[in-house]
Amino acid sequence: MTDLGAPVDSVKGIGAAKKAALGRMGIRSAGALLWHFPRDYEDRRGRTRIASLSPGMAAAISASVVSIEAGGPSYGGRGARRPLKLTVCDRTGTLEIVFFKADYLAKSFAVGKEYAFYGRVSPGSRGLQMAHPDFSAEGGRWDGAIVPVYPLASGISQKDLRRWTECLLGGDPRIDEPLPEGTLARNRLCGIGYALRNIHFPEDRRRLMEARYRLIFEELLTLQAGLMMLKSDNEAAKGMSFGAEVRGFVDGLPYRLTAAQRRALADIDGDMGSGRAMNRLLQGDVGSGKTVVAAAAMYKAVKSGFQAAMMAPTETLAWQHFGELRGLFAPHGVRTGFLAGGVRGAERRALLEKLKSGEIDLLVGTHAVIQPEVVFGRLGIVVTDEQHRFGVAQRVRLQQKGESPDILVMTATPIPRTLAFIVYGDLDISVMDEKPPGRQAVFTKATDAGGRDAAYEFMRREIRTGSQAYVVAPLVDDGDGGRALKSATGLHAELARRFKGHSVALIHGQMRQSEKDAAMRDFYAGKAAVLVSTVLIEVGINVPNATIMLIENAERFGLAQLHQLRGRVGRGERQSYCILVTERGSAEAEERARIMVSTDDGFAIAEKDLELRGPGEFFGARQHGMPRLRIANLLKHVKVLAAVKDEAHLLLAGDPGLSLPENRALRERIAALFSKAGEGLGEDAEIDAGKIGI
Ligand code: ADP
Ligand code: MG
Repeated sequence: MTDLGAPVDSVKGIGAAKKAALGRMGIRSAGALLWHFPRDYEDRRGRTRIASLSPGMAAAISASVVSIEAGGPSYGGRGARRPLKLTVCDRTGTLEIVFFKADYLAKSFAVGKEYAFYGRVSPGSRGLQMAHPDFSAEGGRWDGAIVPVYPLASGISQKDLRRWTECLLGGDPRIDEPLPEGTLARNRLCGIGYALRNIHFPEDRRRLMEARYRLIFEELLTLQAGLMMLKSDNEAAKGMSFGAEVRGFVDGLPYRLTAAQRRALADIDGDMGSGRAMNRLLQGDVGSGKTVVAAAAMYKAVKSGFQAAMMAPTETLAWQHFGELRGLFAPHGVRTGFLAGGVRGAERRALLEKLKSGEIDLLVGTHAVIQPEVVFGRLGIVVTDEQHRFGVAQRVRLQQKGESPDILVMTATPIPRTLAFIVYGDLDISVMDEKPPGRQAVFTKATDAGGRDAAYEFMRREIRTGSQAYVVAPLVDDGDGGRALKSATGLHAELARRFKGHSVALIHGQMRQSEKDAAMRDFYAGKAAVLVSTVLIEVGINVPNATIMLIENAERFGLAQLHQLRGRVGRGERQSYCILVTERGSAEAEERARIMVSTDDGFAIAEKDLELRGPGEFFGARQHGMPRLRIANLLKHVKVLAAVKDEAHLLLAGDPGLSLPENRALRERIAALFSKAGEGLGEDAEIDAGKIGI
């Protein structure tokens, strides 16, 4: 019997080369082959008569070979090689079959014999033709079947995958059912063995649909139950309620909170005083003032005798938060610490020691704060900024550093309401739909290269009046790409010449952290008038005195990114400008520029983004740190999701930790799904499934 846990090369026909190619696709065990689902199917059950073929259609025909014209060097030995050509016929007509660069195939055919061909029909030199069809002698394996079409990687063919998968299933492997029996019965789902057989080699459409439904249901249930388990519903009788102290903190701010900020704080107040752990998403467009709301919440926790931690996706942003929070908190005697990859040696050891002993009240940092050696004495609240940059698993790792701490996650990436519920299903949501008073809408203008000089002249005038400006380019170095693209280093040199008498700073991802910090500090302090950068500054940076955002090669950036970049200006009371310099854009790039010029509303832009890029991209880019799904689609399968939600509630109500024997297999699935959620995100990408604690 086949063991699905065995390495993939235990399957017949898989040697070292194929094993390596499969590894690149993430397929390492025999079982993983079975979970590599077809992306499509070819229906070869019916036979089409040659007379009814038309260009563009994919068809299966049954025909005998009339003549074979061997391929080879062209006549006279020059020019393109001649293809191998077959003329085949059935009772209704003849068709040309061609194979390029495949002379060796000539041996596979004999004149007068009948074969099955499957392929796409196109216009040829003599009537219709089929190029590179799949073929087999009549009675071959795939005749009259629904044939799977798999996603491929180089070095692996459809034939390979079909053969291996068939061979595996034929070996009657033991496939453990991950879903509890009750779940199967209540939702009329087929068993896992049946589902796998029919997702790969369905006998008919009905069976394929049963299999698909079951696998989609399983995947969504794993996701949903996982998200629900992440929500720590534990009693957390910390009794933190907003008292006079927080009011004092808020009253001490140099500005009045907006109504939206006060509403968000009231939500947070309710959560923190409720005796249950808070799980809240604070969603507010760029510049709406999320940081100070988080600050008030952390202040409350600290004054109640707990520690607070805040995690940001980049060191620059973490450093900015640290500076701002230290400024806000120092007068109140709150002790703050900063932790990022660059904090090392004795400094780091001392910091970790103080965290453990409780001598630091607030830790601000990057992914570095979720490393195992970071231990808190009494962590009471955890804040994640720009949550869409983190995986769900990373957030969970931070929260596990305390005993059911309150959780506040913040994001500016607006997500359409219909999706927010799914993506952030485990969180309560507060929306801040208002900007601090006195802000003027950013004036946005799109121009082509012809307008560049005028734009920089305008920038010079603004700078002279004491403003600061950002210039963003897609590349780090001129050598990095086509000549058409601007680079940060190139622009830095150019602008240093152009703006003599003003200091121009540069920041990009290939600089050392200390250099980046120095550049950022100069810009924060107003010493540098211009900051030239790559998209490094995309999120979170807050310099209210900056009034110009000039984006070079704006056609290279997506809508969400452009909106984030524009959000860096318009943070003070002066009129701000966003200039998009577009180099011969595509129609889509022009549409993006048009949208940017026409609206400043992050929600409207997110909807447009979804429209332009489609849901695949939206989730595919893992903007939201969600696990990657194999077969389910959160937008398409909304109906299944409704059934899945009911089932997840039912399961967790009866067994909150999914620790009963019948639920354990599902729990393992959840751990596996979420362990992948953090992949490729940030500096600390490796997530150990065991640490997720689910
Ligand atoms: P974001 O929501 O994009 O993270 P920030 O928290 O960085 O926004 O705030 C942007 C700027 O607005 C900061 O300079 C902050 O001090 C300021 N700010 C926040 N709230 C108010 C307010 N109620 N009135 C005036 N300025 C505010
Ligand atoms: Mg922010």
